[in-house]
Amino acid sequence: MDQGHAVSLFAGCVIWVPLAVWIIALTGWMVQGEIDVLAGMAGLLLGVGLGALAFISPDPNVAPYLCVGVSSVVVLFPLAKTFKEKRELAMIDLEEIEIAYDQLADKPDNVGAKIKMAKTLHKRGAQVHAAALAEQAMKGLSPDIFQEEFRLIKNWKRSLGAGQPNSLACLRCGAKNKLGDIYCYRCKAPVLLHFAKGHWVDPGLFKKLLTVWIAVVAAIVGIPVAGYTLPTRISAPVVVAILLLDGVIIWAAFTRAGRSVA
Ligand SMILES: [Zn+2]
Repeated sequence: MDQGHAVSLFAGCVIWVPLAVWIIALTGWMVQGEIDVLAGMAGLLLGVGLGALAFISPDPNVAPYLCVGVSSVVVLFPLAKTFKEKRELAMIDLEEIEIAYDQLADKPDNVGAKIKMAKTLHKRGAQVHAAALAEQAMKGLSPDIFQEEFRLIKNWKRSLGAGQPNSLACLRCGAKNKLGDIYCYRCKAPVLLHFAKGHWVDPGLFKKLLTVWIAVVAAIVGIPVAGYTLPTRISAPVVVAILLLDGVIIWAAFTRAGRSVA
């Protein structure tokens, strides 16, 4: 029991190292707008609560679990970095599309701008839109003079898989636009720019990750804590409640984010 107590005391103190990282990280993400203030405050409260629990816990076996739960914050860092880098790359590609739209506003038949936009779309995996746009841009031009462009379109079309969409819904008014159209036929919205914004930059992605992580930590910490501190009669339903709550949290995060994108 003495050894257990020593482990508990050690974990109770060590827990404040990852907790400090946790608090700094969450505050930083809130300031940068990576997560919203409500989620950030919930995370901060959870962290401080776990740290306090490690000190006042009635059972010495609990502290190591708290420590593991809090330490898992380190997993979030490389993931957060990857998300950030991916988003920065997506922003660069989005900017390319925006520039092309600006050029087309000045000169609607700017073939170079359309081809550039098609190449960016293709790079991002929107093959069917890329091919349709490039084809539309090259309409009426000589395949003998623009050999490279026509070869490119042929290759793109050849690599298209089955089940491709045959229209592009406008994100503003819902009208179904012909593939390759640049502006919505009904409301004149820049449909491909809206498509790119909706598909390439998912602002909810990091939040989803954070939600899943909080749910996992709640399970890692909550289940053993309930097991050690509560009588079996009560701990069993508490464990079920934690798992149910986790399920609801994750479900809510994903469905809400899904709705905001659509
Ligand atoms: Zn529209």
